[in-house]
Amino acid sequence: MGDASRSSSRGKVHTINSIGMGRLLGKNAIVTGAAGGIGLETCILFAKEGANVLMADISEKALDKASSKLKELVPSAHRVEIKVCDVSKEEAVKAMVEHIDSWGGVDIIFNNAGIMHADDDDAINTPEKIWDLTQAINVKGVWFGCKHAVLSLRKFNKAKGSIINTASVVALVGSATPQLAYTASKGAVLALTRELAIVHAREGFRFNALCPAPLNTPLLQDWLGDDKPKRLRREIHFPSGRFGEAIEQANAVLFLASDESSFINGQDFVVDGGMTKAYVTPE
Ligand code: NAD
Repeated sequence: MGDASRSSSRGKVHTINSIGMGRLLGKNAIVTGAAGGIGLETCILFAKEGANVLMADISEKALDKASSKLKELVPSAHRVEIKVCDVSKEEAVKAMVEHIDSWGGVDIIFNNAGIMHADDDDAINTPEKIWDLTQAINVKGVWFGCKHAVLSLRKFNKAKGSIINTASVVALVGSATPQLAYTASKGAVLALTRELAIVHAREGFRFNALCPAPLNTPLLQDWLGDDKPKRLRREIHFPSGRFGEAIEQANAVLFLASDESSFINGQDFVVDGGMTKAYVTPE
């Protein structure tokens, strides 16, 4: 595919780089947790596809590194900026969305920031402060992102918008290796996403939840470390015999963000290599 130029709805001429096809041409997108595994891969894909991308994360250092990588990989990226934001703080989320309002309002938000704390455990052993921290980031952070995205979409009279919230397969299947606060938080993400999808459907705003299976990203891999039995206990459940890659999630997010998924709304969008459909897996 060669390079090409087109006019966006806002009249600017964008160059479509030789990898992307301009599937998000001229759209303004926010990605939270943008410096992490899934977030960065998604920002790279969004930028390749012609979106203006606001990369948001709690860590400024990690954001600087991630945005440099993006600009190196996608030199034709139209507009890429960073915003330090703790998604558990409403004022910070409001400021993040107001930043993109100065570009003409949000079209896409990927509420993806999340934590899985090392001290998260079962009903007996999970400390209350870890429960509260997990809900504050994983649930309240998603709520604030949805709330301020809707306000921005309305402010700019947008006829459509795509909101994608990161949940997890643990919201769908029980795990004997518990992280109860994390599991509860991801179940809440599924429920709130589904309800918002119905509430805002007539406004043209779509809400879908991404349900990734365990991945090769720092969030899980740092936690597994060199512990082979701990790793095997999880790998065995994959029909494919492997963890997923962040780019495989990012490709699904791109689809949900784009108009190609215009009739997909309120879904638990599972990207798991068949894990949640498996009983006995191949040896
Ligand atoms: P990651 O740890 O690589 O990235 C998470 C990012 O979120 C980090 O850059 C971190 O700095 C940022 N973050 C943490 N707290 C924040 C806050 N309060 N405000 C803003 N940013 C904050 O993890 P990842 O694997 O890319 O995970 C992304 C999402 O996918 C998370 O919601 C996670 O729960 C979910 N998920 C991951 C897996 C997996 O196996 N990696 C599986 C299922 C779901």
